[in-house]
Amino acid sequence: GLFGNRGWKPAWRDPTPKPAYDAIIIGGGGHGLSTAYYLAKNHGLTNIAVLEKGWIGSGNIGRNTTIVRANYFLPGNSEFYSHSLKLWEGLEADLNYNVMHSQRGLINLFHSDGQRDAFARRGNAMVNQGDDAELLDREGVRAHLPYLDFEQTRFPIYGGLLHRRGGTARHDAVAWGYARAADRRGVDLIQNCEVTGIDIENGRVTGVQTTRGAIRAKKVGIVVAGRSSQVAAMAGLRLPIESHILQAFVTEGLKPVIDHVISFGMGHFYISQSDKGGLVFGGDLDFYASYAARGNLPMVEHVMEAGMTLMPMIGRAKLLRSWGGIMDMSPDGSPIIDKTPVDGLYLDCGWNYGGFKAVPASGWTMAHLMATDQPHEVARRFRLNRFATGHLLDEEGTGSQHN
Ligand code: FAD
Repeated sequence: GLFGNRGWKPAWRDPTPKPAYDAIIIGGGGHGLSTAYYLAKNHGLTNIAVLEKGWIGSGNIGRNTTIVRANYFLPGNSEFYSHSLKLWEGLEADLNYNVMHSQRGLINLFHSDGQRDAFARRGNAMVNQGDDAELLDREGVRAHLPYLDFEQTRFPIYGGLLHRRGGTARHDAVAWGYARAADRRGVDLIQNCEVTGIDIENGRVTGVQTTRGAIRAKKVGIVVAGRSSQVAAMAGLRLPIESHILQAFVTEGLKPVIDHVISFGMGHFYISQSDKGGLVFGGDLDFYASYAARGNLPMVEHVMEAGMTLMPMIGRAKLLRSWGGIMDMSPDGSPIIDKTPVDGLYLDCGWNYGGFKAVPASGWTMAHLMATDQPHEVARRFRLNRFATGHLLDEEGTGSQHN
């Protein structure tokens, strides 16, 4: 930067769209980029394009609070997120890119006997899956997080579930790392290219209409997170997805003070400290459906209240920025990675609050589905028709953490 960026080279090409591809991925977020990368790497397809209406990293992949964990409870989710965490652990070497993956440990606090039981059960499920979990009592939590308010009586801290392999990663570096690695394998990353229509002939997808012209394709993957319902509607599909806003916040840079990821079991609040020093935190959804990537003040106040309840010291920090992202909320809180009723058209969505940690496994399994037409073993329960058959994966109902 000090040298006027002279001599800097773009990290990936800026290709003109070809008239036809073997596969097109709609959406250049984390999941779209990882799908393209693993299609190339694991399945040898290279005539692929990722079509992104904005720029790489402009969506939720660059807006999240960066928490990476494998502490899901239900069979179906459990093995998927376990697979994802293993991919995270080798990601920097695989992409040859520093995504600043930091396994600093995640502590989910609990505040009642009932919550303790639920977390003990979750911890057992995690250990059974081959991941790590330790149940901490109140003093165990105090040893890790002495600055929490242990005196407040409204939501007394009973203990916490420690997941040492949980942590954070730098979100936009994940997008850039996958983008560069996919580009190097021949994937065309086409930015400022909005898909406006999906072409279907005799029940089979044949290509897409875009703001940069029509592009033909044998296979098309819809991987557009908060815009899933809109894009699927272009193929005549009505999805069980609602789009809601989730906000996040960052303070001014502070000296190192919080060396874990902490989630507050009673107040929809989670926090970590970035390597730059900012406290990064968030809470619950703004509870109205919207396509605006910004939230409203009532939720800002609610999140601040929760933070102050848990750690009053946070009130001394100045808030620097807040922003919002459009979440693709599914009715049971679990994702969809599946074929659609249109031949050659595939769907990857329903990531709710938690799709950042899923980026590696989602791409891995979506690429498997698109290349082989068979669901990958660890994503076999993410069927679209479960909302018709009743085979739900109600992770929300198990008192899961939200991000
Ligand atoms: P996106 O980055 O949104 O990618 C979708 C892309 O599709 C966008 O770039 C968009 O421009 C593009 N697109 C849309 N329509 C079209 C079209 N017609 N044509 C072409 N392109 C199109 N998850 C965690 O695991 N941990 C967390 O701590 C966490 N915290 C979060 C905090 C916030 C505030 C938010 C907003 C999300 C959080 N998440 C978290 C969720 C996670 O960020 C998302 O689930 C995940 O990023 C979604 O997948 P993606 O990266 O592919 O989405």
